[in-house]
Amino acid sequence: MERCSTILDIRRFVSGQKRAGKTVAFVPTMGALHAGHRSCIDIARKAGDCLVVSIFVNPTQFGPNEDVDSYPRVIDEDLARCREWGCDAVFSPSVPEMYPESQTVWVEPGRAAEPLCGRTREGHFRGVTTVVGKLFSVVEPDVAVFGQKDAQQATVIREMVRQLNLPVRLLVSPIVREEDGLAFSSRNRRLTRDERRRAVALHHALGHGLEILSGGEINPRKICEAVIKRLNDDGVDRVEYVELLRVPDLTGIERVEGKVLLAAAVHVGSVRLIDNRVVQITADGHVSEAPLFDVD
Ligand code: AMP
Repeated sequence: MERCSTILDIRRFVSGQKRAGKTVAFVPTMGALHAGHRSCIDIARKAGDCLVVSIFVNPTQFGPNEDVDSYPRVIDEDLARCREWGCDAVFSPSVPEMYPESQTVWVEPGRAAEPLCGRTREGHFRGVTTVVGKLFSVVEPDVAVFGQKDAQQATVIREMVRQLNLPVRLLVSPIVREEDGLAFSSRNRRLTRDERRRAVALHHALGHGLEILSGGEINPRKICEAVIKRLNDDGVDRVEYVELLRVPDLTGIERVEGKVLLAAAVHVGSVRLIDNRVVQITADGHVSEAPLFDVD
């Protein structure tokens, strides 16, 4: 496995692969790798001949009072995992390598960045689209894999790829969960034992919302209120948002129909956690889990 810390090195690696006629699959990450990343990596390995993973904690997607400094960084562990999981190259640049001068040119995200995390984390998605734009221009992948865990992020990137005509195909991995249902997240490492025990409330509350929906409730406000109540009863420390939106455009809805995203963000101790479920409701009211978006 190649380890590249500079843009020049990863460009050299990728162009060598392309000259040999290989397609490049890419998984961007912020490291502290876990089973959710592995699922993206497994999908990418099957989708391309050569597999590149980036590990970069991107400062421009964190707000001034967010956790960029305490975000877990375990590069040696990550490199061992990438080797074990069959990656061909890891791109792990420094911050000055990615941002050698103060960034004055940004990729402005589209409409999908407005609700959910876009409302509560000002500037977050502009940092995401800008760094993913930079990474795409450096790695030039044929296919890139994102996780449904960050459903809004995947949707924002899809809008960017379509509207900027970027020559990359996007795939989405389903959410991978720990045994009790908590979605794997690098931030789970920062939960104390008590917080970890309470964190599973996020998974249970979303499940509760889907049960209400399956029972025939079509008022999104009522479903979200029930989820918020469950989260508070089950002892999360703060509910940041719970919303039900239309898929794939993430616009608001008056009644639940078609394909929808039930998404939530909560705080447990000092850790911010997000999770979501995507479901399809048929005309006769049958509810089933659905992929975030069909492959283009
Ligand atoms: P991150 O390192 O948190 O930026 O995540 C890198 C990629 O892994 C993103 O596309 C995430 O959506 C994806 N990912 C993170 N956690 C999970 C999970 N539990 N299941 C599936 N994909 C995930």
